[in-house]
Amino acid sequence: MPLVRSKRDNMCYYEQYRFECGDWKWGNFKRHCQSEYRMGETCGMKLILHTLPVPNKCQWCEKIDKKTRRYEKTRADYGRWYQDPSRQASAAKALEDMHALAGEIKTIQAERQSRMQNVGNVRRAAPQSRAAAQA
Ligand SMILES: [Zn+2]
Repeated sequence: MPLVRSKRDNMCYYEQYRFECGDWKWGNFKRHCQSEYRMGETCGMKLILHTLPVPNKCQWCEKIDKKTRRYEKTRADYGRWYQDPSRQASAAKALEDMHALAGEIKTIQAERQSRMQNVGNVRRAAPQSRAAAQA
């Protein structure tokens, strides 16, 4: 099978990495698709050759988890401090941190959302049955 090398290396079949959280990203380019072969032009689409499971969450979910843990800890601190007259400054600071963290979490969620929408605009792999994959 002739391997067509061209400058159009950014289309056709790619590997797909699927994270534990269900998010995914494109992996390496693998091969050109049939339609490009025949027509000699770009198919302009990324297709999934195969899906490789990744045993951790995507970077956005990892970040969100981390911030969420900090948020929870700060909220617990605030809960202890806000009734203590000697800790009012700390309580106020904790409240401020909570607002900041909540904002950061929202930003990361929006980033993840838009990244997912921009990725190849199509072909969000149909939720593959995990049962079938494991069978
Ligand atoms: Zn994720």
